[in-house]
Amino acid sequence: MKYHVATFGCQMNEADSQRLASELEKLGLRATDDRFAADVLVLNTCVVRQGAEDKALSYLHMIKPIKQRNPNVVVGVMGCLVGVRGNTPLKQAFPWVDVFMAPSEPGPMVDFLLQREGKRLAEAETQARFALQDGDFPAAQPDLALRLPAHEVGKRVTANVPVVYGCSHACTFCIIPFRRGPERSRPVAEIVREVESLVAQGVKEVTLLGQIVDRYGYDLLGDDYAIKRYNPGAASGIPSQNIPLRTPLVDLLRAVNDIEGLERVRFLTSHPNWMTDELLDAVNELPKVMSHIEVPVQAGDDDVLKRMRRGYTRDDYRRLIERIRAKVPDAAIATDIIVGFCGETEAQFMRTYELLEELRLDVVHLAKYSPRPHTVAAREFADDVPEEEKERRFRFLEAQHERISGEINQRYLGQTVEVLVEDQHKGKWRGRTPQNKLVFFEDASNDWRGKLANVTITWAGPWSMQGTVRTNEDALYNPAHATQTAHAA
Ligand code: SF4
Repeated sequence: MKYHVATFGCQMNEADSQRLASELEKLGLRATDDRFAADVLVLNTCVVRQGAEDKALSYLHMIKPIKQRNPNVVVGVMGCLVGVRGNTPLKQAFPWVDVFMAPSEPGPMVDFLLQREGKRLAEAETQARFALQDGDFPAAQPDLALRLPAHEVGKRVTANVPVVYGCSHACTFCIIPFRRGPERSRPVAEIVREVESLVAQGVKEVTLLGQIVDRYGYDLLGDDYAIKRYNPGAASGIPSQNIPLRTPLVDLLRAVNDIEGLERVRFLTSHPNWMTDELLDAVNELPKVMSHIEVPVQAGDDDVLKRMRRGYTRDDYRRLIERIRAKVPDAAIATDIIVGFCGETEAQFMRTYELLEELRLDVVHLAKYSPRPHTVAAREFADDVPEEEKERRFRFLEAQHERISGEINQRYLGQTVEVLVEDQHKGKWRGRTPQNKLVFFEDASNDWRGKLANVTITWAGPWSMQGTVRTNEDALYNPAHATQTAHAA
């Protein structure tokens, strides 16, 4: 039997699809890129903006004829469109969908298949076990915590691993807490087992994911007081720049850093109120943890930030960036911005522009505000910035980002950087630096997939760089120097 999973949205959704794929692989199913050839067809959905929700619904309409032609095809819908509390109107609108799954919950599909296809699956699973026993790759171990699709074993270099599900924050624009539920951290041992299983199948880099990943583990402490204590910003409205107690994410990073065979670890997404000094010290100190911080500011104006209920000010964010650069000098910093939030005036928008001009961050993920159901913003504020104005502001910041990223990346010219090679694209090897910069190089005579290459940068643009691979290691690039220079530009 074959399965096809179509994934829309964020890295968390990609990780959820991976988890679903793992469960289906354990049942003996195999992946196919062709949705028309699938016995099990799953759509993993995103609703973070109206455009994403529209896309998911139109995909569902598009696959309906497949189900009509062959009623035996099992169709599943997963993710934020379903949500943690279910979605009755969705079920009524698409009665031909067999299985609805909450985000990160592949269980209902497994139960459905075992119930309906038990005998067929038992045969498929036995065949799959035989096939694995014939292989010589460690993935032949049947007890892997997370099994990659067969065609990715030994080929996939990077993987996302969710470490904390849901979010208990309440930014006024955000639908995620409604659809993904409150924050729930996974135990360290479970995460380590999962990463070890990925490494056994050839993965070299993992990204630990959470909506606020720096809050990892606070809920496991089981002490409400501790959670409040750790988050003085939420209680007082004044974020602490030096949260005094232990940071559980650091314990997790240390455990993952110790996994043999793993080359690199990243974590995202951070929240400005939760970036402790202890965490930054760990990024600096742990050799496998990459100098790459994703910490969204969302807006550069205090009134807008207050209406968004983010819990920090423009100056708090500025100080945070200073602190990151002081503690982790070679860090690349990425941020998120929403333009055209309710009531955002031209002057307020320009304060965002000015903040970005001043901070010169490596990456800016841009989005235009779109009201989402149930959120405070949708209920209480007017979506009063016209669409064409949102588009103009978006383009304005996009041009700024392109210019600044281009200037930062120019500083790498002539430097030698360490690249973890992921795959080939249009005849060139493609990989990323510790700072998550995309690098291409040519080398037809060696297989670089999954290996670390020292690449001397010969061309640098805003979105990627190109270079020449080196075989000797005598001039390894010192990223601290170049990044500091870049930020001073
Ligand atoms: S921190 Fe805010 S923006 Fe991020 S997931 Fe939670 S509610 Fe949404």
